[in-house]
Amino acid sequence: MVRAVCFDLDGTLFDDEQYVRAGLREAARALEAETGRDLHEEFVAAYFDDGVREGTFDHVLEAEGLSTEHVPTLVTAYHDSDEPLTPYPESRPVLERLATEHDLGLLTGGRNGRSKLERLSLAGYFDAVVVTADMGASKRTAEPFRRLLEELDADPEEAVYVGDRPPLDVVQPNRLGIYTVLVTTGFRTADPTSAAESPDATIDRLDELPDTVAALGD
Ligand SMILES: [Mg+2]
Repeated sequence: MVRAVCFDLDGTLFDDEQYVRAGLREAARALEAETGRDLHEEFVAAYFDDGVREGTFDHVLEAEGLSTEHVPTLVTAYHDSDEPLTPYPESRPVLERLATEHDLGLLTGGRNGRSKLERLSLAGYFDAVVVTADMGASKRTAEPFRRLLEELDADPEEAVYVGDRPPLDVVQPNRLGIYTVLVTTGFRTADPTSAAESPDATIDRLDELPDTVAALGD
C-alpha cells in the first residue's frame, strides 16, 4: 500500500528556469546599482546560450572588463529574488488528487527551499517538508530521505519518491527501497547513467503520476 507520495521541488513541481531567470534579473539590478552597467542580457546569454552554469558572474564580469569583487553581491541578489514562481499547470491538480488518498512529502536539496515553496504557494499541500540545507545534508546521502519518511511515519516500501535528476532523486531512494519515479520535465533532467540511477518508472509529465501510483495497488 502506498501511504506517502514524496516529491522533489525544482524541475519536478515547477520549471526551475524561472528561478534562474528571476535571479539573473535581480543580480543585474544589483550590478547596475553598483557600477551603472546593465549586463542582464550577457548573464542570460552566458547561462542559457553558452551553458556557463557555474561561475556565470565571474565569467561575464571578466569578459566585460569589470572586477569580480562584485560577485558575492550578485550571488546574494540572485538568491534573494522574491519574484513569484509558477508551478507547472499539472502540479496543483496532481497534488490535490493524490492528497485525497495519500500523505504528501517534499524533499528539496536546492538553496532557499522554503522560500521557493512560499513563492510557489505550494507549502499547504505537504504533510512534511525536508530541506537538506537545514540539516547540513545532501540528497546524495540517505539521511534526508530517512528523515522525510520518519516525519510521514511511513516505511520505505510504503513510499514513492518523484524527481527529475537521477543522481539526486533516484540513487538513495532506490537504495532504501522506496519506489522511484523519474519525471523528465525539468531543464536539468537527464537519462540514468547506471543501474543505481535507474528508476522504477519514468513519466514524461507529472499528470501521469496518479495512474502510476494507483497501479502499485493496495
Ligand atoms: Mg529537481
